[in-house]
Amino acid sequence: MYSYKEQIEHITDWFPKDSPEAIELYDTLMKRWREEILNKYEESIPKPKVDYDNEKRIAYQELVDIQSKIDDLKKNGKTEWWLREIIIKQAEDRYLKPAISKYKKLKFLQAKENGKISKQFIDKDTIINNVKISDILGEPREKSQSRCKYGCPLHQEDTPSFVWYKNTNTFYCFGCHEGGNVITLYMKLNKCDFKTAIKELSLML
Ligand SMILES: [Zn+2]
Repeated sequence: MYSYKEQIEHITDWFPKDSPEAIELYDTLMKRWREEILNKYEESIPKPKVDYDNEKRIAYQELVDIQSKIDDLKKNGKTEWWLREIIIKQAEDRYLKPAISKYKKLKFLQAKENGKISKQFIDKDTIINNVKISDILGEPREKSQSRCKYGCPLHQEDTPSFVWYKNTNTFYCFGCHEGGNVITLYMKLNKCDFKTAIKELSLML
């Protein structure tokens, strides 16, 4: 088996110089040779290992900071309510959503690197027992031993009426009367089906 370099050197043995066949073969071989060199070069560079746990911690903190700034905005009664709504909406679109997707992406990349993605179906009880509602909603507004309160992510409100029951990892909102577990919450928040919710939540295990 000749190397691409050797084949290129022998083109004129097989085809007349400057013939269309020679030119075409030369182009093809040069292209493959270049690819071969690039591949070898890429393999030779050790890939830096990403410290996902640290990256995720930073991204999560960023997320919590943004969320608390937005919560402050919600509490700030100095501006007109409609102006406040606009500012909050803008802050959510500009800062919160990118921060959430950055965090999710890190989780996804880490799971992919650990080969978790290809893992077979994870059952719903494993998710409910291991992914806390606080993993999704972050820091609660009010904490106690068995229950925590959040501003409901499913309806607009000022006083928190969304209760997370820690022992069962379930929730109920006394404002909009929505309730369920971490999976149904995820489905409602992301407008996705059960299967997608399980798949994505399993990345948080
Ligand atoms: Zn609610």
